[in-house]
Amino acid sequence: MTAPMALARPSPNALWEMDRRHSLHPWTNFGPFEREGSLVISRGEGCYLWDAEGRQYLDAVGGLWCTNIGLGRKEMAQAIAEQAERLAFSNTFVDVTNDPSARLALRLAELAPGDLNRVMFTTGGSTAVDTAVRTVAYYQTCMGRPEKTDIVARDYSYHGSTYLAQSVGKRPGDRVPEFRYKEEGIHHLSVPNPYRRPEGMSEAAFCDALVAEFEALIARVGADRIGGFIAEPIQASGGVIVPPEGYLRRIWEVCQRHDILFIADEVVTSFGRLGHWFASWDLFGVQPDMICTAKGLTSGYVPLGALILSDRMWEAMAADGSRWFTAGFTYSGHPVSCAAGLKNIDIMEREGLLAHADRVGGYFEARMAALADLPLIGDVRGRRLMLCVESVADKATKAVLPDEANESKRISNAAEAMGLLVRPMGHLNVMSPPLVITEAQVDFIAETLERAIVQVTDELV
Ligand code: PLP
Repeated sequence: MTAPMALARPSPNALWEMDRRHSLHPWTNFGPFEREGSLVISRGEGCYLWDAEGRQYLDAVGGLWCTNIGLGRKEMAQAIAEQAERLAFSNTFVDVTNDPSARLALRLAELAPGDLNRVMFTTGGSTAVDTAVRTVAYYQTCMGRPEKTDIVARDYSYHGSTYLAQSVGKRPGDRVPEFRYKEEGIHHLSVPNPYRRPEGMSEAAFCDALVAEFEALIARVGADRIGGFIAEPIQASGGVIVPPEGYLRRIWEVCQRHDILFIADEVVTSFGRLGHWFASWDLFGVQPDMICTAKGLTSGYVPLGALILSDRMWEAMAADGSRWFTAGFTYSGHPVSCAAGLKNIDIMEREGLLAHADRVGGYFEARMAALADLPLIGDVRGRRLMLCVESVADKATKAVLPDEANESKRISNAAEAMGLLVRPMGHLNVMSPPLVITEAQVDFIAETLERAIVQVTDELV
C-alpha cells in the first residue's frame, strides 16, 4: 500500500475557495460573500497583518477590538505552549481548580474596582453577558424578590450573540426577522448619542431627558420588576457612542435608588483600550455590581471571558449555604486561556501599556478630529483607542447617504488597497488599534483614511 500523498501547501486561491465553499462566517451577508469570498490573513506582528499573498496591512481594527498587546509576541506564545504542555485542560466545575485559573481570578479581583472580587470565567464576551443577565434573577431571588428580573438595556447596544445576549442588545441591523429574540422582560432605552440628539437641545438637557426616560420606565413597569440594567460604558459596535457628560453616573444613581443591579459590559472598554484596566469607575465614576470582560483580557491570543461580581452579591447568593449556582462552561477557567490572561497582564504592566494607550490615544483623537473638516464626514467621535468617523450626505441636516451609496464599505475597501484596515459599520468606519500603536502609525492611519475618504467622495459626486 502506498502512503497517501502529502497535500501541497494550498495556494491563497485554494484557501479562499475552501472558505467560500465551506465556511459560514459570523455576521456575513450571503450575497457578497458568495461573490467576493474573504480576505485570507496569514500572519500578524504588532499592529500589522499580512495576507496570504504577502501584502501588508496596518490593522486599525485591532482584530475585533481585541489585539491589545499586539500580535506575534514570542513570550505570549511560549506561556501558552508551556501551559498546554503542563496541563492543557482541567475543568473548574464544583470544587476543582487549576493554578492559572486561581491566579487570574486573584489578579482580576485586584484590578477590578471596589468590591468586585468574584470571578466566573467564560468562553468570551457573550457568555459573560449571558451569565450576568441570568445572575440578576438569581441574586434578586436570593434577596426575596423573585419577580424583580426584568432587564433594561439601550438601543444600539451590542452585548454578544447568544440568544439572551443578543436579546438584550439592540443594534437595528442585527434584528433580522429570520432570527428570534426574547422580548418579554427586556426593555430598551434611547441610545445616548449626543451627535443625534434632538435638534436644538443642549447636551445637558439631552442627558436630563435620558435619565428622565429611565425613571419613567421604572415608574411604568415598577421597581419591583426591574432587576438589572446593562450598558457598555462607551457603546462599541453600536456606533462608538460616548454618552453625554454625567449620564452613566446618573443612571447608576437611579439604579442604586431602586435596587437595580448595574452590569457594565466592558468587553471592549477594559484592558487598556481607554487607558485604564476598567473604564466604569476610572472614567465614569460608576461602581458596577457586575463587570463583563473578554477580548483584551488575553489580547485575542486565545478565547476567554470573565464575569466579575461583587462581594455584596456573592454574600447574598451564598448566605443560605446550600444553593447551587447552575451556570458555567466546559472551558470556564481553561488553564491555557488563563495562563495567557496572566501573561497579558504582566506584559501590559511591564511595558506601561495603559499609560501609553492614554497618551497615544490622545494623539489619535487629535489627528482624527481633523477629518471632521472633510465634506463627507459629519462626526468624528470616541475616546483614546476607540474611534470612528461617521459619513453624512449633508453636514447641516446630518442626513445619511442612501444604502446604495455603501460609502463606509467603499472607504474601507479603498483604505485596504492602501494597506490600512478600518471596519465599515453602517455609515461608520471604526478603529480600535492595538495599544502598542505609535504616533507614526497613527499618522499613517489618519493620512490613509483621509485619502480613502477623499477618493470615495470624488466617486460619489
Ligand atoms: N459585549 C460587547 C460590548 C462586545 O463588543 C462584544 C463583541 O464584540 C460582546 C459583548 C461579545 O463578545 P464575544 O464576541 O467574545 O462573545
